[in-house]
Amino acid sequence: MQPDILSASEQDRLRFACKIATQTLHHVRDKLRAGVSTGQIDRWVREDTLRRNGRPSQLGYHGFAGAVCTSRNEVVCHGVPSDSVLLLDGDIVNVDVTTEVQGFHGDTSETFAIGTPSAEAAHVIAVARRCRDAGIAVVRDGARLGDIGAAIESLAKREGCSVVEAYGGHGIGRRMHMPPHVAHTGRAGTGMRLRAGMALTIEPMINLGSSAVKTLADGWTVVTQDGRWSAQFEHTILVTREGCEVLTTLD
Ligand code: MG
Repeated sequence: MQPDILSASEQDRLRFACKIATQTLHHVRDKLRAGVSTGQIDRWVREDTLRRNGRPSQLGYHGFAGAVCTSRNEVVCHGVPSDSVLLLDGDIVNVDVTTEVQGFHGDTSETFAIGTPSAEAAHVIAVARRCRDAGIAVVRDGARLGDIGAAIESLAKREGCSVVEAYGGHGIGRRMHMPPHVAHTGRAGTGMRLRAGMALTIEPMINLGSSAVKTLADGWTVVTQDGRWSAQFEHTILVTREGCEVLTTLD
């Protein structure tokens, strides 16, 4: 199935959904501190999303119980919010907000350090952010999907980290997950050509240890097999002729 090419008015609606999702992520960011549970993050996301007349896209998605994914330390993605998961000084947590407004979805995540991170934790956070930005930097009309994966993979390797291959970014718009699948590893010059007007997420999950992951018995929480920590950053972007527009920033 071919990815959608969004019209100008569809692009405006996507921009708006992305702005709301970003505002909610920043709302959570400003309240995070040691002693907060991931269940509390879920309540903040529900309240803030409703206040902005949005709907948390993740709530009820294939039965997901939360309004947001909260992935702490060795959790790679899809962490289920819980009042019994407390964030302690030195922990890291990814908060992944997806919001539907007026029929369009915006998707963004960041990994935050609670208190003072170890050097290793700070490293994986920094590398994950740089990997996302390296992927974004190669996007333009005519570039290929493999260019994104290659840029991310080579930077992660140079920094002594690995890239999770089991999950990727995705097309986004009228649904949260749409074609194409955006792999975060790959070979430059291969894969589908990007076209202006396509909307995608770029959201590499970067591990300190091996890239191998497993899913816990709850059917959602994805952790590293070796227990080492993982970080992730995500933007929703719109492909343009010259490059791309990052929709999930407030600048
Ligand atoms: Mg996503």
